[in-house]
Amino acid sequence: MFVMEKKIPLGIYIHIPFCVHKCNYCDFLSFNTDEKEKKAYISALIDEIKGRRSRYGVADVLYNLQTIYIGGGTPSCIDVHMTERILECIFDEFDIADPCNMEITIEVNPGTVTNEKLSAYKEYGINRLSIGLQSVNDNELKALGRIHSFRDFVNVYRDARDVGYKNINVDIMMAIPYQTMDSLMYSVDTIADMSPEHISAYSLIIEEGTPFYEKYGTDERRPVDEDTERMMYHETVRRLKKYGYSRYEISNFAIPDHESRHNISYWKRRDYFGFGLGASSFIGNIRYKNTSIFKDYVNHIPSEIPFEEKIKLTKRDRMEEFMFLGLRMSEGVSANDFEREFGVSLISQYGREIKKFTDEGLLVKTGERFMLTDRGIDYGNHVFSGFLG
Ligand code: SF4
Repeated sequence: MFVMEKKIPLGIYIHIPFCVHKCNYCDFLSFNTDEKEKKAYISALIDEIKGRRSRYGVADVLYNLQTIYIGGGTPSCIDVHMTERILECIFDEFDIADPCNMEITIEVNPGTVTNEKLSAYKEYGINRLSIGLQSVNDNELKALGRIHSFRDFVNVYRDARDVGYKNINVDIMMAIPYQTMDSLMYSVDTIADMSPEHISAYSLIIEEGTPFYEKYGTDERRPVDEDTERMMYHETVRRLKKYGYSRYEISNFAIPDHESRHNISYWKRRDYFGFGLGASSFIGNIRYKNTSIFKDYVNHIPSEIPFEEKIKLTKRDRMEEFMFLGLRMSEGVSANDFEREFGVSLISQYGREIKKFTDEGLLVKTGERFMLTDRGIDYGNHVFSGFLG
């Protein structure tokens, strides 16, 4: 009898580190550069994809590619033919069991994408767009240093629907300077009325080294205080629920069957390759991070692109990740899955922590699963750190 070997599901993340202009809050690995450097980067990226076998030492015939996520930076600010080259290379290099069932996402920012670009992406097989909006209020967009207005977003969104995209995410940001509960709810209502399939709602984090840090660096100077920020979050969750979006992860909301499969694979600790400057990979229980130095990335031969980090996870590390990544999801963690993977029961490993957080009203048990309560989400970092050794 012929037995088909079961392949491991795989995701690919591609990092495009270019942006037209640096936003005031941004500490992502992104910058503006000229066409020559962009071309050099895309060539290095393609070499990296082709040269991955010797660098990671894996037989990737064991894998079945299921999701691709092109993020940044602003992936829509590069020439469409560069995007085409990257995707063609991936399709040539990897096994794909069911091409019709792949999720291929690209992040696009209004002001960098045209109807022609959206049509070209669709032709290349991209079937999910993630649009970086943040707010429908132009004064808030201006405060963030975004290059676009709400009108620009509406044009991109309409073009995307005209072109035929049926799976669109829109980013909304909370705790923006000048934002009030009313202006946030106006953003939430306006976006939800447009019916994207997925909404991500994140709070502004003021990171060191950004213009916002200079302006609002300390807690007392934060544009929106912590209590208000938490109220904004819970009100956003309530409001989105009314529109039919369910929260499947702390910051992510979707209509049924439109959760981001790629992002879920991170929280479920599935294997993925991250290609590009500063990109992270998780392959065979090793976490890798590429160099963040542009000239090192483009000048090295693919098999010698330096890793900034390479960490082989111990069993204990994997158990910790199981808990703090799994608890980010609304479905929480499964005691049965834990025991299947680690050969010990969840209670024997973490019974003390689980009891403490359950007594504090931060965790709740449903069947064999444990998940954060609403209060537990507010104290998420406290809970996650409780599972760290
Ligand atoms: S568009 Fe995104 S990645 Fe680019 S500068 Fe703004 S926040 Fe950073």
